Amino acid sequence: MSNLTGKTAVITGGNSGIGYATAKKFKADGANVIITGRSLERVQAAADELGVKGIVADVSDLSALDDLVEQVKNEYGQLDILFVNAGIFAPAPVGQNSEEMFDTQMGINFKGAVFTIEKFLPLLKEGASIINLSSINAYTGMSNTAIYAASKAALNAYSRTAATELAPRKIRVNVVNPGPVSTPIFGKTGMPEAQLNDFAAAMQDRIPLKRFGQPEDIANLVAFLASDEASFITGAEYNIDGGMNVNPILS
Ligand code: NAD
Repeated sequence: MSNLTGKTAVITGGNSGIGYATAKKFKADGANVIITGRSLERVQAAADELGVKGIVADVSDLSALDDLVEQVKNEYGQLDILFVNAGIFAPAPVGQNSEEMFDTQMGINFKGAVFTIEKFLPLLKEGASIINLSSINAYTGMSNTAIYAASKAALNAYSRTAATELAPRKIRVNVVNPGPVSTPIFGKTGMPEAQLNDFAAAMQDRIPLKRFGQPEDIANLVAFLASDEASFITGAEYNIDGGMNVNPILS
């Protein structure tokens, strides 16, 4: 549906899951796409598969972000689309959150997202679109997600103010809150497979549409928000969760 012809887009964490699917969609819609990630091997492999540019940059490392911005500036000049997608999920019950787990999750999901935006701002054109990938966890009390949820809620709060302050430059800032999406993120938690399967079945049962989202579901919404078709949308948040957010106690 969207047309991104001639637009230049950066996607953080574009070598896997939602970022990868969005890179594919942006490319199909005509954009020049740059993906980032932490591992040279994985970023390069994904960039080659997608036919896009790959740059290694850990979003929790501010000097790596400076290098990324410098490289994008030198090769592409300005940017039309910034998809702030990189993130991790490290579940733990309240009472068992270590300082390291706190710093890692906040450092990537919140601080990394904020400084990705802050540092790319000088490159963003008038009329550019920033899309921040949050989660419905920002508004739920789901067990084992306290710090993850807080990292996403903080990003949503930052995004609202950014939308106001960047409006004079016609830069739009929107947030996408997915429910459960089938990506490798869950396998990276270290949870045993049987536990992961039970967790997935329980989640799916709570989703009125009775399925997990696919990365392409999210990519379609992000591509729309990135496009000029969404030119009157800023400061908005979209739940994309198969109805999970409105699941009644009794159906
Ligand atoms: P994924 O693990 O497949 O992809 C995450 C991407 O982020 C990878 O490319 C990874 O390399 C990158 N990344 C992680 N840490 C990074 C860092 N420090 N610097 C640079 N890149 C880094 O997972 P996904 O499900 O596609 O996750 C994408 C985003 O979606 C995350 O922000 C996640 O919190 C959010 N999200 C996912 C779900 C879900 O159910 N999968 C639901 C809601 C929100």
